[in-house]
This record gives sequence, structure tokens and C-alpha cells, in this order.
Amino acid sequence: SFGNLGELVRKDFPILNEQVNGKRLVWFDNAATTQKPQLVIDRLSYFYQHENSNIHRAAHELAGRATDAYESAREKVRAFLGAKSVNEIIFVRGATEAINLVAQSWGTQNLQSGDEIIVSQLEHHANIVPWKRLADQKGLVLKVIPVNNDGELLLDEYAKLLSPKTKLVAVTQVSNALGTITPVQQIVAMAHAAGAKALVDGAQSVSHMTVNVQAIGADFFVFSGHKVFGPTGIGVLYGKEEILNATEPWQGGGNMIQDVTFEHIKYHNAPNRFEAGTGNIADAVGLGAAIDYVTKIGMEVIGQYEHGLLEYATNLLRPIDGVRLIGTAKHKASVLSFTLKGYTNDEVGKALNQEGIAVRTGHHCAQPILRRLGVETTVRPSLAFYNTCEDVDRFIAVIQHLSRQKR
Ligand code: PMP
Repeated sequence: SFGNLGELVRKDFPILNEQVNGKRLVWFDNAATTQKPQLVIDRLSYFYQHENSNIHRAAHELAGRATDAYESAREKVRAFLGAKSVNEIIFVRGATEAINLVAQSWGTQNLQSGDEIIVSQLEHHANIVPWKRLADQKGLVLKVIPVNNDGELLLDEYAKLLSPKTKLVAVTQVSNALGTITPVQQIVAMAHAAGAKALVDGAQSVSHMTVNVQAIGADFFVFSGHKVFGPTGIGVLYGKEEILNATEPWQGGGNMIQDVTFEHIKYHNAPNRFEAGTGNIADAVGLGAAIDYVTKIGMEVIGQYEHGLLEYATNLLRPIDGVRLIGTAKHKASVLSFTLKGYTNDEVGKALNQEGIAVRTGHHCAQPILRRLGVETTVRPSLAFYNTCEDVDRFIAVIQHLSRQKR
């Protein structure tokens, strides 16, 4: 038994009482986005009722409240990631924007024709497309760490790709399509040994495990607030302070300058350097509340519970006649990708929706890894700590029923 955390926390998430097709909603689309605890919803509303102002620039009371709320959210993110300094925490729109920011600022400034970037076969399109575009613009070479048939990265092959030409290694910590957990600490260490910088995509990891960017050692780490029980439209770029301050800004505008004349511009250091214009103040504050919430429960506790729930679900799903699990890595988080013989993935998704169960079907913005494993799309339930054995049982019952009809 792995405990009943899901039962205990469910009540904190009002949407989990929603009825879909006459059934209580089962939210198994957590890899796409997570649901929000009441406390996050309340925090957003409190901000707009009592604190709303632009930040940093006015002498009045509300500017002070809004600035305090925003900057204390930055401190919460710093502590959540185990970063050294709040100056290393940049608020952006999400993981996608964070990666594009690094590609277009650090990448444009530091990479030259013939330089090499290494990504992995597991990457989400958000950690492929910005690098591919940069590679095409600048004549860089994009190399790919291959996987085995379980969807695990082949580190020996990775070692062979590294060379003095390697300037950046960009890998995900958890695959959104398969759930594979990658050994990011080792991957980063190998990149550094080759003289390259490393970016870790934490979009699918921060909601499932304790993350410490200093232990990982990455130069950049990105995640999206909406996948960790916070609002949409807010995310984080972590970067080592000395690297950020040596990097040209991405967008230009207000907030990010110390002094402007028509002849000369002097930029702030990070984080302001990378936060041009009015940011998503309220949602940053909401993200801070989400981080408080999961921190109070404990990411270790969350990770252990989810691990148990994922094993429970896997052991029930795998033996069902016609089920093919896609992604069978030893170390996995949250995700159960599969296909069911005799049905299209859309048909399976619709049958689940009929019973109030939300899963994603499709290519999950990770076409290269699905094609590597011989499929174009999968059905993808993905778990969070508010899911329960009962949720899993209802899901399994639908799949068993579908399976029996074709056998
Ligand atoms: N990387 C991974 C591994 C993801 O799963 C996602 C979202 N599915 C992203 C990046 C992009 O996140 P966002 O759409 O929130 O920017």
C-alpha cells in the first residue's frame, strides 16, 4: 500500500467535483495541465481585490503590495528549485518561452557556424524547434541522443556525441510522452566535462519530484506554472547568475534598463534584464501560492505516492489483452502511454470521456520519440497526486470493457 494522499488532497481542488457525462470527473491529463487548488484561485482573486498595481515604479501603497507579492513569489520559486539567488529566477510565460529566450539570447550571442547542440530523442517540440531554428539560422549542427526500445536514453551513445564542438546540451528531466525520468545530473556533468553548457527542461518533473538545480548543476532550467498546480501564462527560467548577466537581453522595453538615451542603453542585471515590460504579475503570485501548497505537503511525499499509484495503474493496464505500453523505462513518472488493438486512439479517448475520464490522445508534441517507438499517436493518461486508486480502477474498467468487445 502506498497511502491515501489522493483522497486527502482531492477536496482542495474544486474542479475535481465536476460532473462529465453524468460521472465524477477523473483528471488524467496532468501532463497537459494540472488543476488548481482553491488556495491558488483565492490568491489570484485576493491580488486583484487588494493588491493590484504595476510593480517597481510607483510610490503608492498598492505598488508596494504588488511588488512585495511578486518578489516574494520569486523567492518561493528560488527555494522550490534550490537556486542560490533570486536573481537567477526569471518569470516568463512558460517553458516554451523560457527555451526560446535562451535560444534567442544566449544562443544567438554565443553560438557560431559549425558549433553543435545536443538534444535527446525524448524531447517535447518546445525543446527541439527553438534549437532547430537556431541551427538553421546559424549553421549549427543538431545532434540527438538516441533511446532504447524502453524509451531510456543511451548514455554511451551520448558520450560519443560530445566533443569540443558541443556548445549546449538540452534535455528533458521527464518525458511528457513516455514518462521516462532521465539522469539529468549525469547528463549535465558529462556536458560540462566536454566544455558545453546544459539546459534542463523541467516542465514534466517539478510537479512529481524534488528538484534542486544546484544538485543537477544545469546552467538553465525551465518549467511552466500551469503544470505545477499554478496558473497558465506564467513560467520560470532559472539561469546561473554569472551566465545571465553576461547574456544580452532578449526583448527590450521598460523595467529592464538602468539608463536610456538615444545614443546608449545600460541594462539591469538579471532578473530584470530579462523581464521587459509589464509581466504576468498576478499569475506569478498565484504560482507562489501553488508552490507553498505543494511544499507544505512535501514533494518527497507527493513523489512517493505517485510512484505507487503509477505502479498500481501499470500493473493493471499492462496485462489487458491488446494493450501495448509505449515507454517502459525503469524510472518513470506520471505517464502511461499506450495503444489498444482494434481501436484508434481517438476511439479510446472518446470512450473514456464518455465515462468522465480525461486523457490526451495524439502525438503529445513529441513526434520524434513516438515515431522511434513505431507509433504516430498514443492514448496518454498522466497522473498527479490528487488522483486515487478509484480513479485508476474506473479507467481500467473502461479499457477492460473495450478490450473484451474486440476479443
Ligand atoms: N517541455 C515539456 C517536456 C512539456 O511537456 C511541455 C508541455 N507539454 C513543454 C515543454 C512546453 O510547456 P508550455 O506549453 O507550458 O510552454
